[in-house]
Amino acid sequence: MEELLAVRNLKKYFPVKKGLIRRATSQIKAVDDVSFTLNEGETLGLVGESGCGKSTLGRTVLQLWKPTSGEVVYKGKELTDMNFSQLRPYRKDIQMIFQDPYSSLNSRKTISSILKEPFKIHHLYTDKEREEKVAEMLELVGLNRGFAERYPHEFSGGQRQRIGIARALMLEPNLIIADEPVSALDVSVQAQVLNLMQDVQEKLKLTYLFIAHDLSVVKHFSTRVGVMYLGRMVELADKSSLYSEPLHPYTQALLSAVPVPKVGVKRERIILQGDVPSPENPPAGCAFHTRCAACMKICTEERPVMKEVAKGHYVACHLY
Ligand code: SF4
Ligand code: MG
Repeated sequence: MEELLAVRNLKKYFPVKKGLIRRATSQIKAVDDVSFTLNEGETLGLVGESGCGKSTLGRTVLQLWKPTSGEVVYKGKELTDMNFSQLRPYRKDIQMIFQDPYSSLNSRKTISSILKEPFKIHHLYTDKEREEKVAEMLELVGLNRGFAERYPHEFSGGQRQRIGIARALMLEPNLIIADEPVSALDVSVQAQVLNLMQDVQEKLKLTYLFIAHDLSVVKHFSTRVGVMYLGRMVELADKSSLYSEPLHPYTQALLSAVPVPKVGVKRERIILQGDVPSPENPPAGCAFHTRCAACMKICTEERPVMKEVAKGHYVACHLY
């Protein structure tokens, strides 16, 4: 498999403005030195609690936000230094599916005009071709061609997310960044939308960066899984090793909350103490040390770096 995307030492810091003069007094390290690669056709699941920086990471990879530092290399090209017009072809190739199918579709536009918008932006196809592409796409995502002239409010959450997926696919992208695409949906429709995403992945040979807040959603879907905590990647491994041998204490805790499908098998639930600390003032050393049962002295002083402890299995923890 060819490498499609390489993210190297990516940082995205936001200044925090305080007081009347609104001078930047501190910063939130939303993404703090994250590296990973993504091969063509695979799905990398990216998991962590809210506020861990996974959405920021997605938007920074997409170049919606410029990183503070680090590299985003797509098909061998560094994107972070490119200007708007240089980025244009890549904006076509990398698309995003958003979390909330209620707010991400413009309620005043018909489905047809929502789906044609990317064509307008990129000056593609004639009117007639656009009509036909919309109809084909609606069918591909399991909706009726006749829905094109209706408005978003006429659809259920699951149908709206199908429309969101359709919109992301209109420009025939290679890479899709899906930011919690099913977490706003009823549990009963989540599986249908995930199945659709898997179907179109096979048909269209898509690569996914799939962001989720727990390990159960990405379990069936991902080739590899990365776990984030307070802006940092703490573990990254093949799906099978991550679920059978989680190494980082945080991954172990997240995994203990995932129901075990086999009857008779019990996994002890690890309850984490306290809340996620503020990203404005993260703990020194290992950012997880305030909640880690295995915390040692070194953990409060030295930041653990990612190490490859078994083939393709990376972890950032002083236990290894
Ligand atoms: Fe726990 Fe230390 Fe590992 Fe951090 S580095 S997860 S505090 S054992
Ligand atoms: Mg988010």
